[in-house]
Amino acid sequence: MRGLAISAGQWHQALGDWAVYRRYRPGQQQRIQELALRLLLRKHLVAVNGAELDDRLRLRIAGMAVVPVLELGLDWYERWQTLILYDGPFVAEHSWEDEFGIVHQETSERSGEAWERGPVVLSLEDVWHSGQGDGYNVVIHELAHTLDMRDASANGAPPLHAGMDAAAWQADMQAAWDDLARRAELGETLPVDEYALEDPAEFFAVLSETFFEQPEPLRAAWPAVYRHLADFYRQDLLKP
Ligand SMILES: [Zn+2]
Repeated sequence: MRGLAISAGQWHQALGDWAVYRRYRPGQQQRIQELALRLLLRKHLVAVNGAELDDRLRLRIAGMAVVPVLELGLDWYERWQTLILYDGPFVAEHSWEDEFGIVHQETSERSGEAWERGPVVLSLEDVWHSGQGDGYNVVIHELAHTLDMRDASANGAPPLHAGMDAAAWQADMQAAWDDLARRAELGETLPVDEYALEDPAEFFAVLSETFFEQPEPLRAAWPAVYRHLADFYRQDLLKP
């Protein structure tokens, strides 16, 4: 779609049902559209294993992809060039050797994966399940991992902006982690998906998708964490 003018109707088809997009004012929606087109010019979206990408899906993925960097800029995605769309759930195979020299094979089903400097891989099925109002968004989740990996490894903390307090970030994230673990153990309703407790990197990725998809319960549960995320993303969807 290089050089093509996208009509308002096409944008509406691609993003009109996405509640996150609808939170933005018309001028901001315009900026999302412009940034999405720039992303499509800069990055490769590749369909593999029978996946098919039509213009609507390209616009939808690009629109979701640029929301986290709307106020940061596309350069924050400079470390990846290719987004691979996979038909069906993505199966990752890992093998590891234990201390006795026995090699274990592990196959885990996951909805996406982001490697340092490598491509971002997304399951098409999970892309279609994203942005349905339940807090789940695999596009934002995986791209949050790439932001996290910009400074060092995926450690749950992206490079913070000047003026942000890294110690306060760390302390507030830890308190939220402990609170989530406690609530999960008690079987309480959780402000974010329990998968966040996998490790600090997943915690940041899940918090990020919730920050955009379901900001109200997130802010209500952990206002300090919400504020850190708003400072980092330079956006506050509850104050448009
Ligand atoms: Zn993840």
